[in-house]
Amino acid sequence: MSEASSNNANKSMDDIMALCKRRGFIYQASEIYGGINGFWDYGPLGAQLKKNLRDAWWQDVVMNPCVGRPGPDGEPVEIVPVDTCIIQNPKVWEASGHVGGFNDPMIDCRESKARYRADHVRAISGKGKRNEAPIFAFLTDTPSETKQRKAAAKKFGNEIEEFDLLELGTDFANVLGPDADTLGTLTEPRAFNLMFKTFVGATSAQTDENAAYLRPETAQGIFINFKNVVDTTRVSVPFGIAQTGKAFRNEVTPRNFTFRSREFEQMEIEFFCHADDAKTWFTFWRDWRYQWWQEIGLAGDNLILRNHDSDELAHYAKEGEGTSDIEYRFPFTAPGFGELEGIAHRGNFDLTQHEEHSKKKMQYFDTTRGELAPNGQPKGEWYTPHCIEPSAGLDRGVLAIICEAYTPDESRASKVYMKFHPRVAPIKAAVFPLVNKDGMPEKAAELHQELVKKFGHLGAIETDAKQSIGKRYARMDEAGCPICFTIDGDTLTDGTITVRDRDTAEQKRIPMAQASAYLAEVLGM
Ligand code: ATP
Repeated sequence: MSEASSNNANKSMDDIMALCKRRGFIYQASEIYGGINGFWDYGPLGAQLKKNLRDAWWQDVVMNPCVGRPGPDGEPVEIVPVDTCIIQNPKVWEASGHVGGFNDPMIDCRESKARYRADHVRAISGKGKRNEAPIFAFLTDTPSETKQRKAAAKKFGNEIEEFDLLELGTDFANVLGPDADTLGTLTEPRAFNLMFKTFVGATSAQTDENAAYLRPETAQGIFINFKNVVDTTRVSVPFGIAQTGKAFRNEVTPRNFTFRSREFEQMEIEFFCHADDAKTWFTFWRDWRYQWWQEIGLAGDNLILRNHDSDELAHYAKEGEGTSDIEYRFPFTAPGFGELEGIAHRGNFDLTQHEEHSKKKMQYFDTTRGELAPNGQPKGEWYTPHCIEPSAGLDRGVLAIICEAYTPDESRASKVYMKFHPRVAPIKAAVFPLVNKDGMPEKAAELHQELVKKFGHLGAIETDAKQSIGKRYARMDEAGCPICFTIDGDTLTDGTITVRDRDTAEQKRIPMAQASAYLAEVLGM
């Protein structure tokens, strides 16, 4: 277990968010106009961190699937990429079930006008008094929780029961809403479509004929191109199609920083296989994806694999089919966990739906299956492939990596350092002249240029001559830069430089000529 991983419950989300703002990882979107709820912008360090995580996924999923690990059939895993539109024909979302089924039950408060996702509201009653007023409703981790807990303690002392509001059914006459002052102001739960609607075309008329939706997941862009990919490339089942991109959900209660946003990015794989092989591929993908998150820096007891209870299955998953989540213990979920990636066995739900709605054949002809012909070769078999879907949230991944990396350390000038895995660290190395004179800036510029040429495609290589060297190290600690190289007086005479390690803060001397090789080793190249 890494030192940073064991204590997420003690990390303050406010401190982490303050560092994200201060150092340019994440800003509130439209901040100068007062922000907009559920939207976040990435600053220079955050944009690079996010790109590095996306690139790592792309490299290990698309370019070198599963990092060379063979599939359960002993063959190399085959994955091809696509990049599909955010706006598609609205029939896509009818076929996928999103127009009809992508609804979260929602409760409105008549008094405060606030809107809550019904399955997120918790409630406290007196012990054995769930039928009596008052019942105090709240949302975990919001000011309503503190307020209602206090009110419940005043009324009932320790004689309380705590439960999900929906356990009461749909009559909330005895309930005091999270932000209300009078009883019984909560409405019954109602369906709320999470898709953002827009209108396509130059016409000012906003009618159902020109209505369209921003995609709520990247997956459907893959399914509707399944036939195109099969017909225009050399893939054969089993194979996967992968894509990364933005998805939009008009979440009822966006919260917990970027964890639940209204605009976010997904990294999805749809892996197509024969129904008979689906269970084996499901296990393969679940285990490998779990291992991948560990290798990218989430090693430790903050990361778990959880198999779903059958009553949580999404609209496409049939009873008995697998769904597992890879979950991370964020400071705001601790001691519980929040989903980073879901691995679902979707059956052949999506391809079948699109076949029915589009009237286009989505079946696949597998020449390796079927009865044997007289020449001993299989006759082939038509079938609709089953699909295993590892679907990850890039923004949640970035947030988990930030929370994991955040390491308070009172002994340092910065009081905190970001222990990023070198692969995702936004700044890979920094080169400092000890002082801005005596030939040191020139030497620093020389080394900086060399490192930019060799490693600049992986992340930033910084150089900085301002302020004391201690302050410059402190800035790099907060940015999570793994290595700092310092040019000093000795460099000019004996050609050596100082290397400072972020995690130990230890320094040693190496020849400047070895700096590249040193950094390559740190970056695992
Ligand atoms: P949740 O139950 O948290 O709403 P979900 O099960 O609806 O998530 P999926 O539809 O499986 O999520 O989406 C796949 C991944 O996309 C999730 O594991 C998560 O990482 C990411 N994701 C989903 N919704 C959001 C959101 N509102 N903000 C940020 N990331 C999200």
